[in-house]
Amino acid sequence: MNRPFIFYNTLSRREEEFVPAEEGKVGFYGCGPTVYNYAHIGNLRAYVLHDTLARALRRGGYEVTQVMNITDVGHLSGDGDEGEDKMIKSAKERGKAVLEIAQIYTDAFFADTDRLNILRPSIVCKATDHIPEMIAMIERIEKNGFAYNAGGNIYFDTAKDPGYGKLARLKADTGEARARAAEDGNKKSARDFALWFTRSKFDRQALVWDSPWGTGYPGWHIECSAMSMKYLGDSFDIHCGGADHIPVHHTNEIAQSEAATGKSPYVRYWLHNEFLVMGKDKMSKSSGGFLTLQSLVDRGYHPLDYRYLLLGAHYRSQLQFSFEALDGAKSARRTLSAKIRALAARSGWNGKPEGEAGSYGEAARARIDEFDEAMRRDLSTPRALAALWGLLKDPAIEPGEALRAALDMDEALGLGFLQEANSVAAGGGACDETGGSPNAGSFSPEEEAEIRELVERRAEAKKARDFAKADEIRAALRERGIVLEDGPGGTSWRAAD
Ligand code: AMP
Ligand code: ZN
Repeated sequence: MNRPFIFYNTLSRREEEFVPAEEGKVGFYGCGPTVYNYAHIGNLRAYVLHDTLARALRRGGYEVTQVMNITDVGHLSGDGDEGEDKMIKSAKERGKAVLEIAQIYTDAFFADTDRLNILRPSIVCKATDHIPEMIAMIERIEKNGFAYNAGGNIYFDTAKDPGYGKLARLKADTGEARARAAEDGNKKSARDFALWFTRSKFDRQALVWDSPWGTGYPGWHIECSAMSMKYLGDSFDIHCGGADHIPVHHTNEIAQSEAATGKSPYVRYWLHNEFLVMGKDKMSKSSGGFLTLQSLVDRGYHPLDYRYLLLGAHYRSQLQFSFEALDGAKSARRTLSAKIRALAARSGWNGKPEGEAGSYGEAARARIDEFDEAMRRDLSTPRALAALWGLLKDPAIEPGEALRAALDMDEALGLGFLQEANSVAAGGGACDETGGSPNAGSFSPEEEAEIRELVERRAEAKKARDFAKADEIRAALRERGIVLEDGPGGTSWRAAD
């Protein structure tokens, strides 16, 4: 095992050495999507973090069990039990059944995460498949004296938990929260939260289950406690989610989990990603002004351009989204891809790394160490990318070794370098955005990269209906003996006969 990772733990508000409960193994839970709509690119920031963390831990030698839930019941539009049920509202608006909506947006979610090279978590669990576990946990909470029944619903009694709010550093409840409880007249304090609803404001709740407290459905927070503990045990290593979850969702998860088991801590390291913001506001589904991954693709970006943009910022810093920034990421990623392809061509890459895994000459070793040190230090992806660029610009490192080191780094970055290198080994200038070249071998890797760039610019001009510019690029390439062929899969190019 290498030197331990250092993570900023929201619980202690400090950077801490990461020591898992069981040597060599990590149990990690990340809150998954509520599947009532497409994920926006802010949500996807959270999942890229989870993936980068899992990848970095695996690269660091750990066996990782990554669990992610799918929320398909119980999530109201306000995290504090107020508002409408998100799933039911969406089903009504779209004229579909709740479970149909859940399936549509679960599939869309994984289509997005696949396109972002996010590896599937070890376990993906749906809330509706775990109702018995949630009921059993609520029974334990009740038995331990932390719950009350009011108006037919079961609530968590935050006044019984002296540690309540430790994650968010909430001040003791001085009565203010009790005054605000009037919103839900059943609650003794506004901080209390529903574990199980029976007689809620939704008289036509689509999905209901029998329970010891009557037919009904679970509150939102209980699902994450029940599922994380089912798969990872009463106390586990890492929990992730967006910073918006600190004051309510994660605070409540801790309270109810520790009340059920009597053990503390429920989770040892809490890692939260900061927001993706647009203008002054956090991107959110409810604000209406949100972008999906597909909307970026429709504007001519590759999903991995967005991943690159995310990796260029530290996960704990707010990231201001703009198309100018995304353009910068796109062009940087293009250059990286061209470099990888050039290295593959120059080193005669045949799909398998040469040399012994992990053994490098001094110069490459220094870059790898710089990279690993950056990832070890609270996943500093901007510094890790700088190490990658340093590697690719270092003339002292021969192409085969540089490629091997870049592929090594990409285990943690997930920028698709292996596919890029393999497309060269497969004998083409094949490229996902611009089709391919059946006889790329006639050009040097540098020429090939330049041609691809021009083909791409022509595609962009066509998209912007600037046909004069598109024709100009085609003519310029023709001058150089390159013929373009437009087809359904994009534009391919070849040397003129
Ligand atoms: P939801 O599907 O709304 O439960 O959110 C899924 C994940 O995305 C959660 O971890 C949220 O904290 C996170 N999230 C929501 N909005 C943003 C944003 N604008 N930037 C980054 N993460 C976000
Ligand atoms: Zn959760």
